[in-house]
Amino acid sequence: MAIATLNPATGETEKTFDPHTPAEVERRLTLAAAAFETLKGTTFAQRGEWMRAAADLLDADLEPLAEILTREMGKPIGAARAEVAKCAKGMRFYAEHAEAFLADEPLADPSSVGAARAVARYQPLGVILAVMPWNYPLWQVVRFAAPALMAGNTGVLKHASNVPQAALYLDTLYERGGFPPGAFTTLLIGSTEVAAVIEDPRVRAVTLTGSEPAGRSVASIAAAQVKKSVLELGGSDPFIVMPSADLDAAIATAVTARTINNGQSCISAKRFIVHDAVYDTFLAGFTAAMAALRIGNPLDEDTQVGPIATSSGRDELAELVEDARAKGADILTGGTVPDGPGWFYPPTVVAGVTPAMRLHLEETFGPVATVYRVKDADEAIRLANVTDFGLSSSVWTTDAAERERFEREIEAGAVFVNGMTISYPELPFGGIKNSGFGRELAAAGIREFCNLKTVWEA
Ligand code: NDP
Repeated sequence: MAIATLNPATGETEKTFDPHTPAEVERRLTLAAAAFETLKGTTFAQRGEWMRAAADLLDADLEPLAEILTREMGKPIGAARAEVAKCAKGMRFYAEHAEAFLADEPLADPSSVGAARAVARYQPLGVILAVMPWNYPLWQVVRFAAPALMAGNTGVLKHASNVPQAALYLDTLYERGGFPPGAFTTLLIGSTEVAAVIEDPRVRAVTLTGSEPAGRSVASIAAAQVKKSVLELGGSDPFIVMPSADLDAAIATAVTARTINNGQSCISAKRFIVHDAVYDTFLAGFTAAMAALRIGNPLDEDTQVGPIATSSGRDELAELVEDARAKGADILTGGTVPDGPGWFYPPTVVAGVTPAMRLHLEETFGPVATVYRVKDADEAIRLANVTDFGLSSSVWTTDAAERERFEREIEAGAVFVNGMTISYPELPFGGIKNSGFGRELAAAGIREFCNLKTVWEA
């Protein structure tokens, strides 16, 4: 795959980049390893100052940076601005909280282990490789980089080949903020060169956000080297609506949750599981609202849904819908690839889905919603848990007993009640089953790439 910016709204190649040579990759890994030796000796206060300075740079660069995101992967410009702002916020969050998250944990009664003092202490691991996707080209990287650098690790980034300008912006951001050269660096390489980087003895661990096949490959290579990995893979999140829910709020949120980022978010609600008593009303309102969304050039301020990021991504989405149509599903709105340039796909609602259809179990990475009718909470939970994914979920009910059951029984890394799943720096983020393992964000995220060292003193 060429390393290039291909504008999804036009289908045109705007810029291509030469991949880094093996010598350049070697130079950058050497720099990253040297930077670790410096960084691990710095204080949280020093790193926090650099992190805040980098966040200020993001704020200052907001407009041109947002345009890069939109041109490279097609998200509406307002959403691109919001992504830049979210990154600055996440960086300031870790600048403020890293020291407390990684504070020594003393044993209350050290005499129980025959010590005068015993503590668990978090220490950085070294150079961490991040393999990252194009859907949130800044945020996916920053939510790794901010905690990693604040812990005293250094990072090397292998970004998706279709977002090289975002990758090169990130290459210099942290150094511009004051971090030592090499503390965070981008490798412009294809996915076939990732194995060698994981196997490099200077690299201590790897984190990947992306597809299941990429995750399996990267985690296997890391495991063979006895190196830790964190995986954040796909999801097919359920969105359950029960009779007691505020239906207007549920419908409005369902539309946003399915179409945010042009439907290309791992934590998008994808399967709408609706109780029989409110099914017809929900379906009518949801379909009408999906059909009314404004599709268009993502650089236009009033566009709500832009194109799919890649031509192959749109083909895969269209194939899933065609498979369902051929097997008898009802396509209530959308479902047709439009004529014209760019890789657009309309917001689509599919009902009458059966287990024989691919989109029953496969992830739809675009604005395609499946809607199911269920008779009670038992059936809703069974259907919610039917997929191999387990990233997040959203449930709509005001019944306390139902809420408690959903929170306990849904197999996922998160349950949001009467609200949409969003990643917050303050909350742990990650999945179970084939959605991956490990956690990002909050205290859990910064601790993933640390050596939790036991210190025992007589
Ligand atoms: P990929 O998983 O292919 O790409 C994600 C990152 O992994 C990119 O940097 C990519 O590099 C790299 N990569 C891909 N294969 C390998 C490999 N074998 N070894 C090492 N690195 C690899 O995602 P796609 O862009 O192809 O999207 C396909 C599907 O992935 C989507 O439909 C969606 O289901 C899922 N996805 C999930 C995301 C999430 O947020 N969890 C984000 C994006 C995609 P390169 O670009 O050079 O191939």
